[in-house]
Amino acid sequence: MIEINNVSKWYGQFQVLGECSTRVEKGDVMVICGPSGSGKSTLIKTVNGLEPFQQGQITVDGVAVGDKNTDLPALRARIGMVFQNFELFPHLSVRDNLNLAQVKVLGRSVEEATARGLKYLDRVGLLAQQDKFPSQLSGGQQQRVAIARALSMDPIAMLFDEPTSALDPEMINEVLDVMVGLAQEGMTMMVVTHEMGFARKVANRVVFMDKGRILEDCSKDEFFGAPRSERARDFLARII
Ligand code: ADP
Ligand code: MG
Repeated sequence: MIEINNVSKWYGQFQVLGECSTRVEKGDVMVICGPSGSGKSTLIKTVNGLEPFQQGQITVDGVAVGDKNTDLPALRARIGMVFQNFELFPHLSVRDNLNLAQVKVLGRSVEEATARGLKYLDRVGLLAQQDKFPSQLSGGQQQRVAIARALSMDPIAMLFDEPTSALDPEMINEVLDVMVGLAQEGMTMMVVTHEMGFARKVANRVVFMDKGRILEDCSKDEFFGAPRSERARDFLARII
């Protein structure tokens, strides 16, 4: 479903991605890990066209992301993205946060959008919070709203960029539980995270990056059992 082929990107002289290649099949849960600054966020954002790249090709469900003629907003509407800092609209209620893109981008009626939004809000356990504003919710609740908002768009895949790293420890599991549920239902996911418990539970692939390069791209069992690169072994030894 997602094919990344030999992708490189530079900021001036600095190479942030070096010949990255990997693929995500429908239903795959890929966990991407690696040290800070290794290019994880940049890589995941290239997939929905949020980060341009100078070399290589990416296709998502057959659509070439880097192609000038590709309708990026239309592509982005089909790929859910959840960031570290929730990125909810502060001036809109939870319900309106869920409605906005469904109405503006997908052209759904407000009634239809609300019905869908509330279905997913219920799923993440927050139906009772629909009239609140983001600032009235905890970080864990805001992140669950952000996930429900992404799901309301009927995405073909979901991208997560460190979705729990801005949360207080006691809120991490409520977000991971939602993500585990999604993975178990067969959602195609690329997840940048250092939550190795999540990776062990639901990942079927693990990618390890360092200095803009993919050093490991293997099954979960291979990664946790015997990573090939010394960098990955060091990384695992430090975080587990
Ligand atoms: P990660 O998510 O793995 O921590 P990032 O993808 O955010 O890494 O960043 C990779 C590298 O690219 C970092 O060294 C970062 O400083 C650099 N970088 C990110 N954005 C820019 C930018 N706009 N200009 C220059 N360098 C950048
Ligand atoms: Mg990052």
